[in-house]
Amino acid sequence: MLFDLQPKRRREDLYDREEELKEFSEAIELGETLILLLGIRRLGKSSLLNVALSESGKPFSKIDVRSLYFTHGSIPQELLARKLLEGLLKSLKGRDKVRMELVKALSRIKGVKVSGLQVEFDEKPDLAGLLERLDAWAEKTGRRVIIAFDEAQYLRLSGIRYDGLIAYAVDNLPNLTFVLTGSEVGMLHDFIGLDDPKKPLFGRYAREITLKRFSKEQSRDFLRRGFDELGVKVQEEEIKKAVEKLDGIVGWLTLYGYIRGVRKLPEKDALDELFERAKALVLDEISALTRYSARYRFILKAVALGNSSWSSIKEYVEFKAGKINDAKFSALLKNLVKYGYLEKGEDGYSIPDPVVKEVIKR
Ligand code: ADP
Ligand code: MG
Repeated sequence: MLFDLQPKRRREDLYDREEELKEFSEAIELGETLILLLGIRRLGKSSLLNVALSESGKPFSKIDVRSLYFTHGSIPQELLARKLLEGLLKSLKGRDKVRMELVKALSRIKGVKVSGLQVEFDEKPDLAGLLERLDAWAEKTGRRVIIAFDEAQYLRLSGIRYDGLIAYAVDNLPNLTFVLTGSEVGMLHDFIGLDDPKKPLFGRYAREITLKRFSKEQSRDFLRRGFDELGVKVQEEEIKKAVEKLDGIVGWLTLYGYIRGVRKLPEKDALDELFERAKALVLDEISALTRYSARYRFILKAVALGNSSWSSIKEYVEFKAGKINDAKFSALLKNLVKYGYLEKGEDGYSIPDPVVKEVIKR
């Protein structure tokens, strides 16, 4: 169902993204070892990743780093190793022969115990060593193994040098492909540091697949198809109006479709309901930032209200929250760009998501 709110898993529930899927499988076929899947929140990175992985036909493991970080407050190696191996086993569901081969290979590793789909360690696992063994298994069986970290920038909060580990694997383990996704594109770039001579991945080649919003036409088509699929009649006027408000951000279009087509709220209430839900979501997403400095909220508000230049934003923030020195203010602005909440273009700063803009303004 197109209007299912969960990240999509099946090709038939995924609208378009043909190009991106093609590029992904091309990178895998070429044996590339690092793929980045980038784009602001709700453009469908997780959905694309799910479908690309399941269509790849390869053993894969997908780790939702953000939720791991928030449920455990950190990402210890042991947890990551367990999730990684259990994910791999799970991806081989229905392919018992390959799975048995993998179980055999894993069981030969000292300290690793596999029972069914579960993995335990008798001693603290050595993640680099595990990856080496997986690479060797992949080489021997002629099967590339894909390891995906969804919202990978959260790995940098773990206190462990996972960037170094990934760099090592990308360089030395040719049968593994790492996929890193990130909504906080600047943060992810900082974490992997392809352009930073001081970072372990400096100068490496990475395949970057950047998700774009849908065009107005695609967005309308998406809504029409979704409503058709549910057998719900919706006027063209309404579809046009929704796309004007939500732009081509598929996550919001899906939520609108869900509110109207699944929950069947009347048209007059649907956008209000959407903005209510969006507000809760967005405030939760920025809460870590605003806890750190209340000024983040004022900066976003200034931009939402139409201030786009450095000085007019600063003026607004100082009016609301008192004096702030230039360097500190610039640092806050820069962070908001890195986190994907602001964009910096020729006309100054803007909020890339019209729904976020609207809820901040309210
Ligand atoms: P991201 O990971 O970029 O934040 P998600 O994959 O979680 O985005 O998608 C956000 C919402 O949009 C979810 O409700 C998901 O089901 C929906 N969605 C994303 N991409 C598509 C697509 N191509 N077709 C249909 N629905 C999609
Ligand atoms: Mg996601």
